[in-house]
Amino acid sequence: MSELIKKSITELSELIHNKSIKPSEVCSAFLSQYDKAEVDINAFITMNKDEIAQTAHGMDNLPINADTPPLFGIPVAVKDNICTKGLRTTAATKMLENFIPPYDATVVERLRGAGAIIFGKTDMDECAMGSTTASSYFARSGAKGAVKNPNKHDEDSSYSRVPGGSSGGSAAAVAAFMAPVSLGSDTGGSIRLPAHYCGVVGYKPSYGAVSRYGLIGYGSSFDCIGPLARTVCDVVKITSIISGRDKKDSTSNPQPMDFSNNNNFSVKGKKIGIIRECFEKDKMAPPVIRAVEYAAKAYADMGAEVEFISLPRINDALPVYYILALAEASSNLARLDGIRYGFRSQNVAADDLYTATRTLGFGDVVKRRIWLGTYVLGAERNEEYYQRAITARAAIFAQFQEVFKVYDALLTPVSVSQALKHDEKLSDYENSLIDKCTVPVNLAGLPAISMPAVVENGLPAGFQLIAGRFEDAKLLSLAKAFENYAGVLEQ
Ligand code: GLN
Repeated sequence: MSELIKKSITELSELIHNKSIKPSEVCSAFLSQYDKAEVDINAFITMNKDEIAQTAHGMDNLPINADTPPLFGIPVAVKDNICTKGLRTTAATKMLENFIPPYDATVVERLRGAGAIIFGKTDMDECAMGSTTASSYFARSGAKGAVKNPNKHDEDSSYSRVPGGSSGGSAAAVAAFMAPVSLGSDTGGSIRLPAHYCGVVGYKPSYGAVSRYGLIGYGSSFDCIGPLARTVCDVVKITSIISGRDKKDSTSNPQPMDFSNNNNFSVKGKKIGIIRECFEKDKMAPPVIRAVEYAAKAYADMGAEVEFISLPRINDALPVYYILALAEASSNLARLDGIRYGFRSQNVAADDLYTATRTLGFGDVVKRRIWLGTYVLGAERNEEYYQRAITARAAIFAQFQEVFKVYDALLTPVSVSQALKHDEKLSDYENSLIDKCTVPVNLAGLPAISMPAVVENGLPAGFQLIAGRFEDAKLLSLAKAFENYAGVLEQ
């Protein structure tokens, strides 16, 4: 394995800037790893090899000087629900199987502006709905294999574990060294869960910190784009480029993110609360418990005050999320109707076109969620579901606000277990527990990060750290402190 692909983007860009390596060498190292690993891992829906090689070679001929942008020649893999101009973007749905966006999402435009090379489009759950990446149309239809977690359980001879979802391809691509960093999206945990399952860092910014323009929406009041990487430094580097006000997204925050104080940060005296409602040990796998306990010990050793706290409103988070996110999804996905966008069913009378198209074009998970979302928005049920959920969401937000008056950050597991098996059958209840610790964060628009902490039985397990709204810089400093304490997880 080439040593280049193990380097962080901070190291790679230093090597490019001091002319020790060329962009084309970096890209061909990752492309050859792609050739080796992708047959097993299936992380990508679309790989734009020729374009990558051409762009990188073009960059080789440009002068390197003080004006050379920070990500010059750095490959970044992008989740396939983020629009890339001229490069197919499907959201892993048949509906958009052949959609070629005429524009870049703001995050992609900013990455390209900083010199990055868009390195393929990663597989995901269809329309970002799910926690395994198995609901991808491309995996379901057999057009490609399901994305595999690159980590093998000690007892497995083959790749038997899911990468998590919905940004499973983005996490697997980084964990398998096919890309140094990637972008994912997180509506209820879709960056943090795959990061935890695959053993990489996954960061969901505060709602509004990063523009959503060009993201194929799921629940627009929850959706966030964020990076997955191997180190916190790389996460900071990508975030400082993609974040900030965007006039094309009216919910984007006017205050730019400021990471300039990160180097002077001290954990000493910081207060960290472990949320009791998210740490019910009888429902957690032992490696997950150990990951959280290790983090608690690390922060205590570094001088933080770590104690248990209670946030009872969190117990309402799952039903509230599934009412509001699905209501928003049913509205967002209405545009995929075979008339304005995408796949269109043939040979049906005009009256039936809409129904036939959507019946064939969406998978079962998405259809079920559109039905539910439409149901809770119905005029006669609006008060009972939608309005009550809005009120409960405000109460959850208020309780977080109270807690953050005292605490600098909150510590929880990311999920109840390590990566599940591909064929693992869970009850609806068990399934819902997977997202219990991540969903509340999106309801309150908070920033949170999933940090790898331990490897047990060959599989990684991480913990989640949550900070107050727009306290992203503090969150990333705390994450960095843990990384310095524990070292980057070796895989
Ligand atoms: N698993 C959650 C869901 O299916 C979260 C998905 C996401 O964050 N996009 O809704």
